[in-house]
Amino acid sequence: MKGRNAVVTGSTSGIGLAIARALAVEGCNVMLNGFGDPDEIEAIRAETAAMAGTKVAYMNADMSRPEEVRALMGRAVGEFGPVDILVNNAGVQHVAPLADFPEEKWDLLLAVNLSAAFHASKAVIASMSERRFGRIVNIASALGLVGAPHKPAYVATKHGLVGLTKSIAIEVAEMGVTCNAVCPGMVMTPIIEMQVADQAKVTGLPPEEVVRQVFLENQPIRRPVTAEEIAGAVVFLCSPAGAGVTGTALSVDGGYVAR
Ligand code: NAD
Repeated sequence: MKGRNAVVTGSTSGIGLAIARALAVEGCNVMLNGFGDPDEIEAIRAETAAMAGTKVAYMNADMSRPEEVRALMGRAVGEFGPVDILVNNAGVQHVAPLADFPEEKWDLLLAVNLSAAFHASKAVIASMSERRFGRIVNIASALGLVGAPHKPAYVATKHGLVGLTKSIAIEVAEMGVTCNAVCPGMVMTPIIEMQVADQAKVTGLPPEEVVRQVFLENQPIRRPVTAEEIAGAVVFLCSPAGAGVTGTALSVDGGYVAR
């Protein structure tokens, strides 16, 4: 994978950052993206580049805005050359019963979790097909395969991402381009830490009990999956060994959907 050019959306923390680091260690140039403190992001960028010895750039494009998604992909081409690997990872969550679910949150989750993957994939697919190599990996969720209450937009967008994955995979199957989804179970990252804090307030339980009783209830391994375990699956799909795997939804969920 040495010399491949990768874009990982939403890679300033959590799973995306682990994926970006793992791809860089494999020899890829990596375009980081996401929100956060500019000094911290610059430290992450510089540290990843120094550790891996590859080019690592960053752009704070907002994945809820199609023109910024396209700008991110264009910037990556400008920095490194044609994009070989696209990991659509940026994601947001909102938890509320359907009757109270704010319409602007529905629109935001659709835009970031699903439409951004469409716009980013659309921007690279012709070039990948022409060059007869490409890897698109969509970070969906166990909730892209099964439902859960109070997460209508998240569940809908993650199921949509699995469907988008299959459609792209079949369309470009003969072009040396693969498209797969990775479906994580619960990984302890900022997106989950916020939900744990909310649930602790509602239930009066200490955060570690909320994790055990609520978030790990359906995860048979009874521990969070690690971001590095998700990154390992992405590296496999992008490696030569993954060339025959396309259109799949690869669960890295500690047995969540096996129940
Ligand atoms: P996280 O909150 O640590 O990371 C989300 C990343 O997306 C951050 O870099 C954030 O800055 C970025 N982001 C958010 N909105 C953005 C926007 N509008 N434009 C650009 N970047 C934006 O959470 P995470 O757990 O690492 O989530 C990564 C992906 O994994 C998400 O798609 C999430 O749905 C999925 N996932 C997470 C879990 C879990 O348990 N943590 C489980 C299944 C799936």
